[in-house]
Amino acid sequence: MTQTAAQLDGRVVAGHGRRFVVETVTGERLICLTAGRSVQAVCGDRVRVEPGLDDALIREVLPRTSLFSKADDRGRSVPAAANLDQVLVTLAVEPRPEAFLTDKYLAAIGAMGLAASILLNKIDLPECGAVEADAYLGYFESLGYKVFRVSTRSGPGLDALRAGLAGKSSMLVGQSGVGKSSLLNALVPEARSRITELSAATGEGKHTTTSTTLHPLPGGGALLDSPGIRDLSLAHCPPEALKSLFREFTGRATHCRFADCMHLTEPGCAVRMAVEQNEIPASRYSSYKKLVITMRQAKERKYD
Ligand code: GDP
Ligand code: ZN
Repeated sequence: MTQTAAQLDGRVVAGHGRRFVVETVTGERLICLTAGRSVQAVCGDRVRVEPGLDDALIREVLPRTSLFSKADDRGRSVPAAANLDQVLVTLAVEPRPEAFLTDKYLAAIGAMGLAASILLNKIDLPECGAVEADAYLGYFESLGYKVFRVSTRSGPGLDALRAGLAGKSSMLVGQSGVGKSSLLNALVPEARSRITELSAATGEGKHTTTSTTLHPLPGGGALLDSPGIRDLSLAHCPPEALKSLFREFTGRATHCRFADCMHLTEPGCAVRMAVEQNEIPASRYSSYKKLVITMRQAKERKYD
């Protein structure tokens, strides 16, 4: 579709139901509805908008570079944000990281084709000295994941984090209580008032905001906030694809007896051997097994 003189290009910065807020390149904020069911927009989408007397219309969603989905209560994937460059799995010294959740997040982000990094918050807490946490993160660094160590409360690490976010479109995911909203407020000082304004504009109550909002970062780039995310879905990922998302498996898998080894019960499995020899942490392997089993069960339920 070509752009007519009256149409404008912009970016969806909030949405609730069929109402969206679009910020145009000139910084103007338009309340929009989608033009029919065939137009499905999410936060972060670049869109072509036709201004109207009342609400404007989103005529077209421009091609996406990525689509990030969250899982609903039944594990189904629900699109939540478009055009992200990276997702930061946010952990904290307290509440302590849950190994399975971290592994699941990293795999699900990889399955969406997005870059994943890890952010450890609250390094000001005395428990941070626990070498355990550092060895845990060191392992992920050895797999090539970038790790940011931050105290949102007292400041260390925030500048390195700002540099890692600059010019990119990023999202934080993580358990409740790790400090995601504190981080957003530290990185985007006007975030709180912006969320109130955006949710008023889309008709979502300010105390129940669960939809995604996009916040431009002072240094360029954007941070997307989605307080509703509790879980990520691997619904679209075949179990056979999961094994390559556990990065430490790939090199070793070439030594498995069977080329299509799923590293479960097959004889001559080099991945299981590496687990037995403590080269791969038992927690990583048990996360993998748990995910494959859950994915297979979900598939069977679908065909029942
Ligand atoms: P969210 O649920 O992930 O959004 O977490 P919040 O931002 O609501 O933070 C949860 C709690 O952790 C709050 O009491 C924050 O004040 C606290 N908190 C956040 N960042 C830090 C930090 O860097 N250090 C310490 N000690 N506490 C923090
Ligand atoms: Zn194997």
